[in-house]
Amino acid sequence: MRQSKLLLPTLREAPGEAEAVSHALLQRAGYIRQLASGIYTYLPLGRKVLRKAEEVIRQEMERAGAQELFMPALQPAELMQQSGRYSVYGPELFRLRDRHDREFVLGPTHEEVITALAGGEINSYRKLPLTLYQIQTKFRDERRPRFGLLRGREFLMKDAYSFDIDEPGLNASYEAMLTAYHRIFLRLGLRYRAVEADPGAIGGEGGTHEFMALADSGEDIIACCTSCDYAANLEKAEGKSLEPSATAGSDSKLHTLDALTDSGAAILSQEGGEPLVSPNSSPESAPRKLHTPGIRTIAELTDFLGISAASILKTVLFTAGGRAVAVVVRGDHEINEIKVLERLIREGLAGDEDMLELASPELVLQVTGAPPGFAGPIGITGPLLVDRDAAAVQAAVTGAGEEQYHLENVVPGRDFSVAVTGDFRNAAEGDCCPRCSDGRLVMSKGIELGHVFKLGTKYSVKLGASCLDADGKEKPMLMGCYGIGVSRLLAAAAEQHHDESGLVWPAALAPFQVHLIPVSHKDDSQRQLVEQLYSSLSALGAEVLLDDRDERPGVKFKDAELIGIPLRIVVGRDAAEGRIELTERSGGVKETLSAEEAALRVRQLLERLRLQAE
Ligand SMILES: [Zn+2]
Repeated sequence: MRQSKLLLPTLREAPGEAEAVSHALLQRAGYIRQLASGIYTYLPLGRKVLRKAEEVIRQEMERAGAQELFMPALQPAELMQQSGRYSVYGPELFRLRDRHDREFVLGPTHEEVITALAGGEINSYRKLPLTLYQIQTKFRDERRPRFGLLRGREFLMKDAYSFDIDEPGLNASYEAMLTAYHRIFLRLGLRYRAVEADPGAIGGEGGTHEFMALADSGEDIIACCTSCDYAANLEKAEGKSLEPSATAGSDSKLHTLDALTDSGAAILSQEGGEPLVSPNSSPESAPRKLHTPGIRTIAELTDFLGISAASILKTVLFTAGGRAVAVVVRGDHEINEIKVLERLIREGLAGDEDMLELASPELVLQVTGAPPGFAGPIGITGPLLVDRDAAAVQAAVTGAGEEQYHLENVVPGRDFSVAVTGDFRNAAEGDCCPRCSDGRLVMSKGIELGHVFKLGTKYSVKLGASCLDADGKEKPMLMGCYGIGVSRLLAAAAEQHHDESGLVWPAALAPFQVHLIPVSHKDDSQRQLVEQLYSSLSALGAEVLLDDRDERPGVKFKDAELIGIPLRIVVGRDAAEGRIELTERSGGVKETLSAEEAALRVRQLLERLRLQAE
């Protein structure tokens, strides 16, 4: 491709609204342009990179036995009403009406469409297993589209769906997709982790993994173990505290909270399992009232009382299914609402469709006797969920349930019920790994690139997708669904692969492999060598961008750095001797080589890409 003919509008400055590096660079380097908030045009270079990603994804999907199809973006609303997602999605769903006033949606994903299709076309287990996929545009009316392609309202996605007659079949289909995903992200040169995740709006039983690209601009937090391969989304990660609390009088030995007795009292044991302290034997005095005028937050309390946040218990009131629910966690921990809601559902205190919402100040006053900031766990009627680390604090400071007062010497299990304990908090940096004995959790930011779920029969039951099993019995098919954000992947790659001068594409994603730059295209010997290289490298199968523009060398080099093509070949003064200068965009080292040597290097790069595809 000749650069003089290419629509490749580079910019010196990023447009003002760019919040993420990838967003700024992809615009500056002429890959994308914004049409409206969260909606982008892919310019020729951007389209080429997308195609590279799509090609690798297609190859790996086919290798895993999946078949490509293409479903409509425009879907009748009834399908989503049948599955229940019409209401679950809320305002994120683009809804519209046709001229006959029939309701439609722009597909945010395609579970309903594919389930209806499978239900209609598959009637026997003999046609299973079957995995179908498409690469298609999706729509989500994000409240706050941002970070360019990382959170858009219209985006490109690969979505695959597997159908099986039984659990072992589903597990095999799921494993095949996991393998394909690892191959895809490795081939595309991304740094990623496969993490345990929360099922979210798509829902379903059984396994779910997220594939996260590690990047500082990521909106998701991943907890990774320093010692084993445990990694989980913060929503899901289980952290275990090293010490039950930092109360006065407690020693510095390591404790773990092992079990709860029937009465709900906590038994603390040493690492060896020996009972160490029972809460009933800890501070004998009753809770004492502290006057804490205007002190509402944990930070204010630690300052005012000179104590650590770990010895404070915060009590937060929620509503779920029309009832008030109090949750108690340590002052240095954050409540995990997903874990709370899951437990409420398991205890029969909330339904599947219920949401957990923060209670209004009026309700807090009514239930706890104090405004927010002074609420405490003592005397609360109704469900009280106590985080296991909070239950292990031996003498805590809590709200007094009376404005301007707190209590000290509060003993969980003695002064308030710890009948319902569990993991109700977010994992925190430094927590013990839930899987291995010696690892600690560290937090990294990540960008979700892919998500795989075992859906089970969630959709097939609601949409009537069943078929006959080997005994001739009608059974709902077991499904899995597997997504990859293709346009987001482009941005994630840019987040991971850039320097201060511009993009540094991994070879598999780069729009071209070689950027051929004559210092002066008017110089006869330079032009001759450049044209000769252009044809010979193209004949090797390389994609070559030839900068034949009538621009100053400085401008050409700056643009080349910005665009980020892996190999740069500069033809200058030494052209008459057949010598060129080769630079790897990722390494930056310049070498002077003969034209033949340069061709060999290009051939090696192509060979590397070919081997990755095997
Ligand atoms: Zn571990």
